[in-house]
Amino acid sequence: MSRAFNFCAGPAALPEPVLAQAQADLMDWQGKGLSVMEMSHRSDEFVSIAQRAERTLRELMGISDDYAVLFMQGGASTQFATIPLNLLGGHDCADYVNTGIWSKKAIAEAKRYTRVNVVASTEADNFTRCPDQSELKLNPEAGYVHYTPNETIGGLEYDYIPDVGDVPLVADLSSTILSRPQDINRFGLIYAGAQKNIGPAGLTLVLVRRDLMGRTRPELPTMMDYSVADKHDSMYNTPPTFAWYLAGLVFDWVQQQGGVQAMGELNRRKAERLYGAIDSSDFYGNPIQPRFRSWMNVPFTLADERLNSAFLAGAEERGLLSLQGHRSVGGMRASIYNAMPEAGVEALVAYMETFEKEKA
Ligand SMILES: *Cc1c(COP(=O)(O)O)cnc(C)c1O
Repeated sequence: MSRAFNFCAGPAALPEPVLAQAQADLMDWQGKGLSVMEMSHRSDEFVSIAQRAERTLRELMGISDDYAVLFMQGGASTQFATIPLNLLGGHDCADYVNTGIWSKKAIAEAKRYTRVNVVASTEADNFTRCPDQSELKLNPEAGYVHYTPNETIGGLEYDYIPDVGDVPLVADLSSTILSRPQDINRFGLIYAGAQKNIGPAGLTLVLVRRDLMGRTRPELPTMMDYSVADKHDSMYNTPPTFAWYLAGLVFDWVQQQGGVQAMGELNRRKAERLYGAIDSSDFYGNPIQPRFRSWMNVPFTLADERLNSAFLAGAEERGLLSLQGHRSVGGMRASIYNAMPEAGVEALVAYMETFEKEKA
């Protein structure tokens, strides 16, 4: 068996030991004679899988009992509506920071439910940076402040957590969760689609401070209500059981690697190696201000765009997959989430150097 290095932005590469464990368990989970996919979500077996996943995640991220950990569905995009409907009871506006495509989508959806204050935007700089703390024109009466710590498409990432006073801070951690240590207690709510750093698509993780539950709008659908999900241990209806189980295996794997501390060190090395290769050549480029370059998603361009398809074809021949940039920005993008080993980054850098020598 030969596995490629998959640089896809999402659904993304999963750790090989996780896939091997899932394969070993597939027909017969722990001698029970059935697959996890075939179990009742109410069975003792699945409930133990579910609880273990939550416990491991709490340990990894240092999540206290002040927060509910919810395993939801609908992807991060459904949260764009779920958040205002849950948190805005009693408030008539919310603050949003605009740093790119995912911020914009969150803003557009929130506008259907409330007045949105865009408290900072770096669009005038073409989203090549995140705003500084001093640029945030926050409103003390806002129901919450929403931002996107890592813009998966643009490839920019905050190097700080905004200080928003007593207003709850809401963060879309879809593409950066578990990639480095983070002080959870700074946030009112964190959400993340699973398919980047957690597991397969179909699962959405929501961490919400319990005192923020119960601020719901009356029209909030039951299935989107955080307090309902919490009360039913994320099993008000049938949850995506297999994705939940796989997420648990990924959490175990992160823990075996040394937790988020070790992940952060690994991810920093990978990012430095790749940006270093881009910066040391005129053949490749990345427009993001160095301070705000994403550790997870590394977009880069070739000086001569006409070589793009040759670059991608050569990469694929070497088992370096899904390097094409997002359709809205073009160029290349290497997503190097937790599951991407350093060997994958080394293989990409070696290929980039070879390609440049051949074509420059
Ligand atoms: C991928 C992504 C989303 C969208 O996630 P879905 O689960 O597909 O809805 C939203 N925000 C960010 C930052 C992302 O990376």
